[in-house]
Amino acid sequence: MARVVVISNRVPVPTELGPRAGGLVVGVKDAIKDGGLWFGWSGQVAEHTGGQPHLNRAGNVDYATVEISKEDYERFYVGFTNGTLWPLLHFRPGLVAFERVEFESYLSVNRAFAKSLLPLLKPDDLIWVHDYHLIPMATELRALGVKNRIGFFLHVPFVPPSLLDALPQARRLLRMMCDYDAVGFQTAQHLRDFQDCLRSMLGLVAVPGIGIQTDGHAMMPIAAPIGIDARAFARQAKRAASAKATQRLVDSLVGRSLIIGVDRLDYSKGLPNRFVAFSRLLEEHKEHRLKVSYLQVAPRSREDVAEYQRLKRDLDRRTGEINGRFAEFDWVPLRYLTRPIARASLAGFYRVARVGLVTPLRDGMNLVAKEYVAAQDPEDPGVLVLSRFAGAAEELDDAIIINPNDSDEITEAMHQALTMPLAERKARYESLFEKVCRTTAQSYCKDFLGTLTRQVPDLDIRESGMTADHAQHQH
Ligand code: UDP
Repeated sequence: MARVVVISNRVPVPTELGPRAGGLVVGVKDAIKDGGLWFGWSGQVAEHTGGQPHLNRAGNVDYATVEISKEDYERFYVGFTNGTLWPLLHFRPGLVAFERVEFESYLSVNRAFAKSLLPLLKPDDLIWVHDYHLIPMATELRALGVKNRIGFFLHVPFVPPSLLDALPQARRLLRMMCDYDAVGFQTAQHLRDFQDCLRSMLGLVAVPGIGIQTDGHAMMPIAAPIGIDARAFARQAKRAASAKATQRLVDSLVGRSLIIGVDRLDYSKGLPNRFVAFSRLLEEHKEHRLKVSYLQVAPRSREDVAEYQRLKRDLDRRTGEINGRFAEFDWVPLRYLTRPIARASLAGFYRVARVGLVTPLRDGMNLVAKEYVAAQDPEDPGVLVLSRFAGAAEELDDAIIINPNDSDEITEAMHQALTMPLAERKARYESLFEKVCRTTAQSYCKDFLGTLTRQVPDLDIRESGMTADHAQHQH
C-alpha cells in the first residue's frame, strides 16, 4: 500500500506522547503504524513560519515539524482557528470573533506548511489532512503542482448553512473543501449539514458514485466515525485496575461510588452545567450525600484564548462553592483537577467509576465516551451518561442520553445511573461494548482511506460543462 502522509496542526512527536494525547492522535496513529510520515506544527513559536522541517524517526514513522511565528500564533492559532472556527463549528456564534488579518494569516500559514512539506512528498503518497486548522491545505498543495490523492477529515462538528453563512469567507472555505479527493466527517448528521451547505451556498449536489464535481475534479464526502481499539483498551483497563494509581483512588473513596468526567477544559464540553447538575443531585437527593464522589479531570487547554481563561475562573469558583456548601470534614464531594492524567491510568479510573459523565454541548465524536464503555468490568459495569450532541451518541444509543443544556436532566440521569439495578447495567453495557468494538481506529482508517483511493469513474459529464445540479437531476 502507498505511504500515508498525515498532516495535522500538532504532531505527537514520540517524546510528547504522554498524558496529553487527544482524540485525533489516538484515532489516527493507526493509519501510519506500518510506516508513514506525520507533518505539522511543533507547538513552538519561532521567527518565521514554516521553512525546513525538523525530522525525527521513531519505529517506522517519520515525524516532520515546523514552527510558526509569534504573529501567526496570535492570528492563525489564537485568532482564526480557535477564536473563529472552533466556536462557529461548535454552534456558538455568540463567541465567534472575526478579523480579516486573522483569516489572511490562516491562509498564509497553510501556504507555508504546504511549501515545507513539498520536498518530503513522493509521487505515490496518500496525503491525509486533519481538522479545521488546515482546510486550505489541498488548495495550496495543488497550487504547488501536487497531483497525489489528498483527503481531509474534520474531527469537529459541521454546522447547517444558516450558521456557516455567518462566516464572511464561508463560501471560499467550502470551495477549498471541494479541492480534496475525499472529505470525511464523524457522523451522518455532520455530513448532512455539509451537503446542505454545498447545495444552498454553492449550488453543488453529490452525484452517486462520483461525489461533488467541480472544475474537472471529484470530491467524495463521507461519514467515517473515529473509534478506539476497544478490546485492547478493555485489557489495559483490567490491568490498570490493580495498578497503584487506581488502588490509591479506590482507597481514597472508602466505599463511596465514583462519578467520573474527563474533558479538556473547553467551553464545548458543558462543564458548568454538569457542576450545576451535581450540586442539584446533592441538594435534591440527599441520600447521595457522603455516598458519592465526583472526579472531574479537566486538563487546561488553549490558555492564551480569553474565553478559556474565563471558563477556568468560572469552574474554580463553582468548585469552591460546591465543596464549601456540601463537604464534610471527611468528605470532599467534587475533586477537580486541571492537570492531565495519563491515558493508561484513566483506563483504571474509568473501570472503578460507577458513572461516566460525558455531557458536551457539542462534540465531533468524544472518545472518552467510548473509552469509558470499553473499560468497564462486564460483571459489574458502570453507566454512561451521554450528551445527544456528542458525535458518539449516534452510535452509543444505549447510554442514558441527555440534553446537556438542561442541568435538571443531567441530575436525573446521575440519580438514575447511581441507582440502576445490575441487570439493566449489564444489558446496556453489553450492547454498548458490542458497538464500541464495531467502529475501531482500524475500521476508521480503512473506511476513510478506502474512499480516498477509490476508482473515480469517468468525469465526462462534468467536462461537458454540466453543473452538479444538472447531473444529479439526470441520474
Ligand atoms: N486524555 C488523556 N488524559 C487526560 C484527558 C484526556 O489521555 O487528562 C485523552 C482521553 O483518554 C481521550 C482523549 O484524550 O483519548 C480526548 O479525546 P476526546 O475525543 O474525548 O476529546 P478532545 O480532547 O479530542 O476534544
